[in-house]
Parts: sequence; structure tokens; C-alpha cells
Amino acid sequence: MLTALIDFIFPRHCRVCGKRLTPTEKSICGGCLVDLILSEFAEGETGNRLERTMWKRLPIERAAAFMIYDHEDSYRNLVLDLKYHNQPAIGYHIGRIMSRQLADNHFFDGIDLIVPVPIPRDKLRKRGYNQSDQIAYGVSQITGIPVNSGIIKRKQYKTSQTQLTPNQRQENVKGSFELKAKYVKPKNPSCDLSGKHILIVDDVITTTATVQECGKTLSQIPGIKLSVLSLAVSKNYITNVRKANPSEE
Ligand SMILES: [Zn+2]
Repeated sequence: MLTALIDFIFPRHCRVCGKRLTPTEKSICGGCLVDLILSEFAEGETGNRLERTMWKRLPIERAAAFMIYDHEDSYRNLVLDLKYHNQPAIGYHIGRIMSRQLADNHFFDGIDLIVPVPIPRDKLRKRGYNQSDQIAYGVSQITGIPVNSGIIKRKQYKTSQTQLTPNQRQENVKGSFELKAKYVKPKNPSCDLSGKHILIVDDVITTTATVQECGKTLSQIPGIKLSVLSLAVSKNYITNVRKANPSEE
């Protein structure tokens, strides 16, 4: 009732098509949600290409990415609003939507803890929140798996990632995460994560350089298992991976 009244005074609109949202819709209208084209990794199928491309550097257990981030597609507004336009609720909302299907596919089986990819402190201060935390809270709400954003910290970027080639990105993120001291040599049993299965949650996978570096940092914990879940994967990534493995088409 209250939502209906607030909606009447301050109408909310779908971030994809601009249509007015009903009181029960959040960020995206029902029609756009039905039409949303999922990435080929949305079901987190075992041994999918996203998972396999990361095996070169890390033994990843499972990997999934929900939607495609495409510069020419209005669905990217969801990601842009989440990252740059002070709309943290989008992360939570889509985090819940993508988790429902993945939970049905047993993607979360055996996962003990969710670790969102941290952002540098100056960005956090400016933005007021970490978008990956918001996605992680949505995932946690559906799965019941706890979130811990305090295990790794991120140093400042050497240069901004946006304009870099895949190889430059890889180089730029090297050494940019740090496992907090209390998890390196845990004195408190609650900080002992040895043998745990951690799900790294990210907003957009562009080259996998960031999630892999994050995973490498977590790999200092003995016997750790890692999986990856991203809200989106860039269209460029999919195109590049296909080009690199044409025989699989
Ligand atoms: Zn819409």
C-alpha cells in the first residue's frame, strides 16, 4: 500500500525500456526481464568455457556469469546504474534473480563463504558502496551462504583499467589485492579458512584478470577451493574467447 502510494507520487521507471514500473517490480519491468538474453555461462554448467579459460591460472571449481554486457544494448543501463548512478539496490535485486536459477542447478552446493571483489578505497568513498557487495548480499539472501567483505583489501590501481588491452589489464591488476594478516596466520579459529570453498562475486567480467588475481590472493589460504560468479560478462570477452578457440564452435 505504502509502496503504491510512493510510486504514485514518485514514479519509478524500468532501467531498460523506460516504462513505468508497477509497485512489485524493481529496477526492471517484467517484460524486459523475460526478454533478457542470458549469457552462455548463466547456468554455471560444469566445465563451461568461462571456467576453463580460468584454469590456465587457477583451479576454479565452478564459474557463472548471468547477463551479457554490451555497449550497444540498453540492458547495460542496469550495470551502469549499479556502478555509477547510486543504485545499489539493482545489485541486490539481480543477485537474487540469478541465484534462484543457479541454486536449482546446484551451483552453490559445497560453497562455504561469499567474498565480493573489493574496490579501491578512494572509489568506495566516492561511490558510497561496493557494487559487488550488493550483488553478494542478494546471492546470500537466496542461498543462505554468508558474505565476508573483510578478507582481502584492494590497493589503488596503477592506472585506470578502462582503456587497457587484456594483457595490460593482467599486468595492471598484478599484486593489487592483499589477504589481511589475520587470515594469513589465523590465531582466532573464525579466521581460519583452510579447506573452505569460497565464491568470488564480481560485477562485470571483462578479461577475467581481476577475478583471477583476487583468486590468486585467496589461494594463499591452505586447501582453499574457489568458484566465481559475475552479474555480467562483456560481449568482447565472449567474442575474444570464441576467436581464440574456433574449433569449439
Ligand atoms: Zn522494461
